[in-house]
Amino acid sequence: MENILFASTNKMAASVTFKEALLKGQAPDYGLYMPLYIPRISKNNLNTFKDMEYHQIAYEIILPFLEDVIESEKLYQILVDAYNFEIPVQKVRENFYLMWLTKGPTASFKDFAARFMSKIMEYFARKEGKRYTVLVATSGDTGGAVANAFYGLENIDVVILFPQKEITERQRKQMTTLGGNIIPFSVKGQFDDCQAIVKKAFNDSELQKLNLTSANSINFGRLLPQIVYYFYGYSKVGQKNVVFSVPSGNFGNLMGGVFAKQMGLPVKRFIVAVNENDEFPRFLTTGQYKAVIPSRQCSSNAMNVGHPSNLARLVYLYGGWLTDERNKNGDVTKKGVLKISPDMQKMRESFVSYSITEKEVDKTILEFWRKYKILLEPHGAVAVAAVEKYRSESAVISIETADPAKFPEQIKRLIGIEPQIPSCLCGIDDKAEDFISIANDYEVFKDSFIKKLC
Ligand SMILES: *Cc1c(COP(=O)(O)O)cnc(C)c1O
Repeated sequence: MENILFASTNKMAASVTFKEALLKGQAPDYGLYMPLYIPRISKNNLNTFKDMEYHQIAYEIILPFLEDVIESEKLYQILVDAYNFEIPVQKVRENFYLMWLTKGPTASFKDFAARFMSKIMEYFARKEGKRYTVLVATSGDTGGAVANAFYGLENIDVVILFPQKEITERQRKQMTTLGGNIIPFSVKGQFDDCQAIVKKAFNDSELQKLNLTSANSINFGRLLPQIVYYFYGYSKVGQKNVVFSVPSGNFGNLMGGVFAKQMGLPVKRFIVAVNENDEFPRFLTTGQYKAVIPSRQCSSNAMNVGHPSNLARLVYLYGGWLTDERNKNGDVTKKGVLKISPDMQKMRESFVSYSITEKEVDKTILEFWRKYKILLEPHGAVAVAAVEKYRSESAVISIETADPAKFPEQIKRLIGIEPQIPSCLCGIDDKAEDFISIANDYEVFKDSFIKKLC
């Protein structure tokens, strides 16, 4: 079979192989890489998944994308090592399930992508005899998962930018207490500002020598492993077709599901669950796109995204073109301009979307505890609240993305208990921290970044 090639959503860059898409992260025309061909999983093959373990399903899904870039035994070993934790699919009531993607080493669904990416990047870096720098912006959990997954690798440094005030203490400590090849920056700004700095750095020719690559969901390498759990969830529930409710911020999680559907998974519909950053449900209703700037601050902090980067991919798949306008220095002058409208009719067949208020989040956490003795946290609660708004005839799988112990104040305030701390977070409260504080300014970042790494 031929290599699957990847094209940029902005259509001004050459197509590349998976390896290049992974190591470049973003296309040189500032677009995001999309596979030009999507492999299909046959019905027969799909039917065998119900008896498989997670890493075996992962192998079936990921191998067709990587056939010519990695030996199949090596890939299999990477997947065995990456997915060595449990992934419960819990029945709440008839036709309603929770899939807990929260049992990895940082208690976040970001572990699914970070653990795969670290191992596959290390494989390529070693093969090429090169040193890489992963540059990543985080709104909460990406930083911790990436730090944990890449910590101690010899040929990869990791630089993480986080918004000073928008993350919890435990989230910060997951990044700032490791040291070594993990270098965290605290930015006096919002997540969107961190993301803008990262995007700019990728296109800065003076930084080329650091072999920058991204671990944000602009990188297709992160979406690929996120296709797998949709197949896994489906196969555990054992129904003809399913609906997924996806708590969404940058829409990387959702894109994993969208690709799964394209590969042949019988997904009836996606419920795109967002917090008070409601640009997507408004877009779906009106066909007009308007980013929420600045983004609104909600307790589901990893979803405080007013302009989801992966929306460019989704719009592209439905025949449209969404991009940022830039001046010739590459600075964004207008975020999220819809140059060509996608087929809205078709999009509405595959997606419904709800914006969930903070009040509804609190109510859902409280009710779920009272009714089912199930402890939710704000991100998962956004998805669950959206399920309750949607009358589904098919089985619904709502995705849980973080452990409640990451939000102890909110849980305590609502139901009066201290959530049990999973073993992976134990001891972190007392560890010493180290990070660099900077203003929200690209040149300031660049100076201090170069000093640290060159
Ligand atoms: C990152 C994250 C999300 C949002 O995922 P996207 O891929 O950005 O849409 C939701 N919940 C948690 C806990 C996260 O860390």
